[in-house]
Amino acid sequence: MSILQVNKLKKSFEQLEVLKQISFDVEKNDVVAVIGPSGSGKSTMLRSLIHLEEIDGGSITVNGDYLVNEGTYTSPKQIKQITSRMGMVFQHFNLFPHLTVVENLELAPKLVKEGNAHQNRKDSMELLEKVGLSDKANALPGKLSGGQKQRVAIARALMRKPDILLFDEPTSALDPELTGEVLTVIKDLAKEQMTMVIVTHEMEFARDVANKVLFMDNGEIVESGPPVDVLINPKMERTKKFLYRTK
Ligand code: ADP
Ligand code: MG
Repeated sequence: MSILQVNKLKKSFEQLEVLKQISFDVEKNDVVAVIGPSGSGKSTMLRSLIHLEEIDGGSITVNGDYLVNEGTYTSPKQIKQITSRMGMVFQHFNLFPHLTVVENLELAPKLVKEGNAHQNRKDSMELLEKVGLSDKANALPGKLSGGQKQRVAIARALMRKPDILLFDEPTSALDPELTGEVLTVIKDLAKEQMTMVIVTHEMEFARDVANKVLFMDNGEIVESGPPVDVLINPKMERTKKFLYRTK
């Protein structure tokens, strides 16, 4: 079953065409790695999926429900409902600095009046344990390392039990010695069959964890398929050029 269907997605910023008819599907339990040079439209594509950007044309379906159908968005209420099934992890964590770790996790369910205080505390403590940060529940984000912050951000993205998790370069802002702990958490989620789309520059990680790879360049999906096809035996010149340049 498709969790996510993206069809002919188009997006421009003024004269700049950033996404040119992007189409792809994400099936349940897929781990999709999205690679490509800086400026190719990867972040804009992810942000469009959760309605942080409005697209100009095309369709996005989540679990069979249209977020946007041939350029026309569904109702604001439905948009909220549909985007709530997706969790997002940003490059720069985006934690609230004045809230403790556990309060960061509890904020979203609290704002939408989901669960109750007791249940939300229980869920958040379980998720913190899952990412190895039970002992940091009452710390402020400023006291954490970058790797710990990103693990908190992942736990927070899981709080509302999303059907799909989206990651935008989750390790790009981290010192190299801290990327491993974040990649390990993502690998563990993959083992639990979490459906994920991960924009990443970590080619080895993409090869290990993904079952599909999309190579984006200049607002297009140039090549897609299993990691061995796209990362090891790419067919397109542009993919080869990108891979050989970043290796
Ligand atoms: P990537 O994540 O692959 O590096 P982005 O999606 O961030 O690419 O950006 C794609 C292009 O869109 C870039 O040329 C970028 O400068 C431009 N862009 C992104 N966001 C905006 C914006 N809010 N306004 C204008 N241009 C933007
Ligand atoms: Mg980006």
